[in-house]
Order: sequence, then structure tokens, then C-alpha cells
Amino acid sequence: MKLETTLPADLLPIYKKVESGERLSREDGVLLYRHPSLTAVGALANVVRERKHGDRTYYVRNQHINYTNICNKFCKFCSFYAKKGGPAPYEMSLEEVRQALRRYKHVPITEVHSVGGINPRLPYSYYIDFIKTIKEERPGIHVKAFTAVEIVEIARVGKTTIEGALRDLMDAGLDSLPGGGIEILSDRVHQELFGRKLRGEEWLEVARIAAKLGLRQYATMLYGHIETHEERVDHLIQLRELQDETGHFLCMTPLSFHPEKTELEHIQPPTAYDDLRNIAVSRLMLDNFEHIKSFWIMNTVPVTQAALWYGADDADGTVLEYEITYKEGEFGQKTQALTPSNMIAMITEAGRVPIERDSHYNQIAREIDEMEPTRNLTTLPIAN
Ligand code: SF4
Repeated sequence: MKLETTLPADLLPIYKKVESGERLSREDGVLLYRHPSLTAVGALANVVRERKHGDRTYYVRNQHINYTNICNKFCKFCSFYAKKGGPAPYEMSLEEVRQALRRYKHVPITEVHSVGGINPRLPYSYYIDFIKTIKEERPGIHVKAFTAVEIVEIARVGKTTIEGALRDLMDAGLDSLPGGGIEILSDRVHQELFGRKLRGEEWLEVARIAAKLGLRQYATMLYGHIETHEERVDHLIQLRELQDETGHFLCMTPLSFHPEKTELEHIQPPTAYDDLRNIAVSRLMLDNFEHIKSFWIMNTVPVTQAALWYGADDADGTVLEYEITYKEGEFGQKTQALTPSNMIAMITEAGRVPIERDSHYNQIAREIDEMEPTRNLTTLPIAN
């Protein structure tokens, strides 16, 4: 049966645009967020997903290193930074960074993903040496590090410009920026939730400078706190316009807000319904982004499996030691990992075709006996 005949009448104009590749408007985006039929919105997103990628679903082998949780920005939505009654403060020495990398030396990861708090005690040389340490321990690995708010801080402590800091970090081995640092491009939300962090225009400026220098970047959107549907759509449109201008974004990840242990604990967290909706609307609005990711640590494995039919073509990776939304004791230790076999099973069980990728979405072919080197790690079950 043709999709057109099953869609609600009020979605037919959007269906026609999706079919012809016409760009969706702000009003279309708001309608997609408010439409009662999530199934219909997901089916529209799946048209775009399959046109771009068919059944192909990407994952990466990566290790996360969150080098400090000391932060002077006090964002209300954040459970990661050290505070009284919350997580104890830590700051990884370069030797500890080295040890963290050596802990997984046997795992053939292709990417190190690193972000941290805004810790004014860290000197400029720390950031440069941090990147160099990763490259020394893992020659040739892709280093994706530092949100825009960290880049602004690094430039500040180095008494240099954003461009100067980025050039120095690139000379040390920085390969791409993970995005993040702005949550949602809205002055209202910025003032209410993260007023000490950089403003939207500053975030856009860092992204423009990165693009000019040839650094690729990822994009995110934190949803499910106090933002409105209109603010989400405006965020997506600003990303889309910047991508028109620079073309340097590789992927967009909608990030589900986790209110536990934040100042917004009273807010109901996003449901699976919200998570799927944000994946689908992002896929439909961001016509110039090749990839939409469902981050399984935030969305859970089952929702990520469903998301592969709601617009997502990337399931992130075999993430090691993720701390940002980690809840101590929940999984017994601080390792959160899916082995490559778990990733493949998750994607295959969902009816899609798993493709291991590098950080630029090039396919990686492996010998069978390389597939299980993370088998000694604690793993999350496929259905949890
Ligand atoms: Fe600091 Fe980032 Fe947390 Fe804000 S979100 S408090 S900048 S670690």
C-alpha cells in the first residue's frame, strides 16, 4: 500500500514536499512536533532515511574520556559537574589519561571522544598535551574533542583567539569537534538554564571558525527540559542554515534530557515517544545533514532499535566509560559498553544492516576474529 494512502490528510502537503525533496518550513516543523500520529511522522522520516541510506546503519568503536567534572558554569540541567551532595570533583592528570587509554589498548577503537567541565585551574598547555597524549598512545586515532564552551575557555586561558586556539589544538592532533555546548539555540532557554555559558551567537561563531579551518563537526540538541516546540524547530533551522553556509556538519544527535540529580529534577523526563519524535523531526527538517544519530546510552537500546525506523541511521558506538549521564551503582561499575557483537545484534534484530564506520562515515571492514575484543567488559543487555 502506498504511504500516501495511509497518511492523515493534514500531513499530505508535507508528504509531497518530502517526496519531491522540497525543504520543510518552520510551520511544517511545529506541525510535525504536535501531530497526534507519531507513527505517521515516523513513516515520513523513514522515507528520507531510506532514500539516503537504505537499510544501512552505522556504528563506531570509540572510547569516551571526560577529563574533569570541575566546572564553573553551573548549568541547571547538568548532573555531571562536581557539587555538594553530587559527584566528587576529579581532574585527570595526563598520566591518568594515558592509563585510561591503555586500559582498552586491546580494543581496536577508531575514535576518542572527549569533553569536560570548564575548569579554570587547567592551563592552556594541558589541553594541547591532552591531545598529544592521546595521539602518542593511539597513533592515527581520530580525536573528537571539546565543545564550543570548552574552546572559548581554552582560548581564554591561552590568551589567544578562538582561531588561534583551534589552530594550536589541530597542530596537536585535534580532528573534529563534538558539537554540544549550546543545548538549544534560544536566548530564553540560555538565560533560564545556562546563563554562564556562551550565547548562541558565540556558539555559531566557533562553528564558523572551525569550518573555515577545515575541522568537521557534529551537532546536537538537548530536548525535554523547558524548551517549546517552536524553540526546537528554530534550533533545527539554525543548524540547517549554518550547514548550508559551511557544509561542515557530519551528523546531528538529538539528546534526551535526563533530569535525575539536576536542578530540574521535578521535570518529567522525555518518554520513548518524545525520543522517537525528536529523531523523526530532526531527520525531516535537516535535509542537508547526511546522518541522524540515536545515542543508545541516552535513548536506551530498545528505543534506538525503534529509532532506526523513525529517521536514525546511526546508533553511535561501543562507548567505553561514559560519565555524563552515568548513575553510580546503576550498572555496578563505570563502564558502559556494547560489544561489537551487541551492536551488530541490536541493529540486525531491528531489521537493519550494521556498518562499522570511522569518524567520517567511511566503512571499516574487519576480520571475524577482531569482532569480540571487548568481551571482557561489562555489557548492557540488548533488551533492558
Ligand atoms: Fe559545566 Fe558543561 Fe555541565 Fe554546563 S553542561 S555545568 S558547562 S559540565
